[in-house]
Amino acid sequence: MSNTISFNKTEFLISAPSITKSPADTGREVAFAGRSNSGKSSVINALTNNKKLARTSKTPGRTQLLNFFSLSEDRRLVDLPGYGFAKVPKAIKKKWDLSLAGYLQERRSLKGLLILMDIRHPLQKYDWQIIHWASESAMPIHLLLTKSDKLKKGAINNTILKVKRELKQASLKANISLQAFSSLKKTGLYELKEQLEEWLE
Ligand code: GDP
Repeated sequence: MSNTISFNKTEFLISAPSITKSPADTGREVAFAGRSNSGKSSVINALTNNKKLARTSKTPGRTQLLNFFSLSEDRRLVDLPGYGFAKVPKAIKKKWDLSLAGYLQERRSLKGLLILMDIRHPLQKYDWQIIHWASESAMPIHLLLTKSDKLKKGAINNTILKVKRELKQASLKANISLQAFSSLKKTGLYELKEQLEEWLE
């Protein structure tokens, strides 16, 4: 089977400072969340084969709440701000948190949430917060354990099992899946695309 969406046709659409400035809430979209340095830009690069796109979200003035990319008419990827971002003043961060929770819970076209975590440091405090926000509205979640090239196969499998165990203990309402991923080696790209297609089609 081959992937059916052309992710390399992804184009930057708009930076939105608030939910009200977002594109019309129609069609289907998938959002990317993750701590700063979790490898989010690299995953977006690997997925779209376009180095410029993810850089867009890091361009000053575009470090806004939501960066929208268009895959085709009415199909979008959304880059959420890297959480734990030191340069953002506390008051703004608080506002973002509220808006993000609102976005995750109210956006009708949002069909799934990708949460990126460095495979060496999974499930940190803010990861749990975003998992809980999404879970409150039973939003499907796919966890990407990034930079998997940093670990050997045995350690990757152990981490996957450990994360699965912790999620199970949390008794969440959301449907959660997970996989290891390496942007450097392009490991897990096919699986990621399959998940995105399931949500977007
Ligand atoms: P972001 O802040 O979440 O957008 O993260 P970046 O994509 O900018 O990556 C943060 C750092 O991790 C950079 O130094 C990347 O080179 C590195 N990195 C990202 N993905 C990988 C990967 O798959 N393997 C390895 N070894 N390093 C990676």
